[in-house]
Amino acid sequence: TTAWWWWSRRVVAKEGARWSSSSLRERGEALGLKFYQFSFVDLFGQQRSKLVPVARADEIAASGAGFAGFACYLRLAPTDGDVLAKPDPSTLTVLPWNREVGWISCDLEWRGAELDHGPRNVLRRVLGTLRDKYGLSMKCGVECEFFLVDGVGGVSDRLDSSPKPCYDAHALMRRYAVVRELVLGMEALGWGPYQADHEDANGQFEVNWDYADALATADRVAFFKYMTRSVAEKHGLRATFMPKPFADLTGSGCHCHVSLHAPDDKNVCAGEDRPHGLSKIAANFLGGILDAAPALAAVANPTVNSYRRIHASTTTSGATWSPDAVCWGGNNRTVLVRVPEAPRLELRLADMAANPYLWPAALLAAGLNGLDLGSDPGDPADCNMYDATCPRAAAVRSRVPKLPSSLRPALANFSATPAFRDYLGSSTVDAYLELKSRHCDDYDRFIAAHVSPWERDHYLDV
Ligand code: ADP
Ligand code: MG
Ligand code: MG
Ligand code: MG
Ligand code: MG
Repeated sequence: TTAWWWWSRRVVAKEGARWSSSSLRERGEALGLKFYQFSFVDLFGQQRSKLVPVARADEIAASGAGFAGFACYLRLAPTDGDVLAKPDPSTLTVLPWNREVGWISCDLEWRGAELDHGPRNVLRRVLGTLRDKYGLSMKCGVECEFFLVDGVGGVSDRLDSSPKPCYDAHALMRRYAVVRELVLGMEALGWGPYQADHEDANGQFEVNWDYADALATADRVAFFKYMTRSVAEKHGLRATFMPKPFADLTGSGCHCHVSLHAPDDKNVCAGEDRPHGLSKIAANFLGGILDAAPALAAVANPTVNSYRRIHASTTTSGATWSPDAVCWGGNNRTVLVRVPEAPRLELRLADMAANPYLWPAALLAAGLNGLDLGSDPGDPADCNMYDATCPRAAAVRSRVPKLPSSLRPALANFSATPAFRDYLGSSTVDAYLELKSRHCDDYDRFIAAHVSPWERDHYLDV
């Protein structure tokens, strides 16, 4: 079949003739694996998988591993047949913490065709559109923030209590065992990790590695979350990517650095023609992102908890590091899209609940729309947008939209923005909206059924 042909081609392309005639079984045996872990990410970003013994891997790869879609966050009914997960062998990743298991990212098929709203399928499709329409590819580098907490979700290190804990040398070294294992694991996988630090909240960390093609980075972000949770558990801790686990502490952002490249790999974001060294292409792409930002939030900030991070009034460290006005600027960490010195855009909107595939797909859809329309990003905001007393920041605020106040209006914006229907597919947008609306209903029912501490504070003595 075609899929099989692509399968073997990609293996050959990646590893050379050595594997040209090999199967997953042969490859697994050569690597000393016992199992493959066939994995995919559902619409809510949750990772699902099956362990497949190496001896049966070729058979299951050919037929696809079967999953009941209704049991995952996918728009399928319990009466619909199996979703089939077909491995992409170029993504084989031996678990650094368990070298018997080879993780493989899978594409989803349903009823003989690719499942339209399978997140990895969606990203592949939009990247294909960028290539076909503009001859470009997109590269991404993602900064993953997370908390190391105890079993019940409290900051796990009691000594990590400074009100200004960013880059804290001691708090970082008290978690050396976890951080070390993550960085050495990434080195072994060839990701090019280059730094790890304690972030702005107590118990919060970040590990950075080199950017790559958008699909490769998406697979890595999915794997990074899996690895970080697994390594933390091994050390008696729990890693959480919840956007805002503590009301008074900075939340976990997921900055996404993006650049566009010509077929010869040249970064086409650099130019003389626009402020902060952007080319016209980069400026139009940026314009599209800013136009769509209030709708992009539906994917970038996909939980009810996400909006506590975006609209946090203040934190003990003095800044939320999370933008709430739709503006851009140069090397300025208070704007929504920052243009650091190198020719690239840093989107600071998303949090760590964002789906590793849907988020880059949605931002690319917005950027493509900007290229189509020649969108203008407007003037940069080169001032401190966190400073409530700054008249320049106030002027920017008065001319740009604000991000939505909660998930439900974000979903409404998402539904009403044609660029997403055009580039992600209307059925994908509808699937996402259906599942997320149900999720909001669930939350609203919970709130309606509970008396809040605020009500008791205000009304016990009424
Ligand atoms: P900061 O904290 O200053 O925002 P980090 O060093 O934590 O930045 O992360 C920067 C990310 O941007 C890394 O993943 C890096 O590889 C990536 N990056 C650098 N150049 C590019 C580029 N041209 N295109 C996409 N990503 C890039
Ligand atoms: Mg069963
Ligand atoms: Mg960083
Ligand atoms: Mg950070
Ligand atoms: Mg950043």
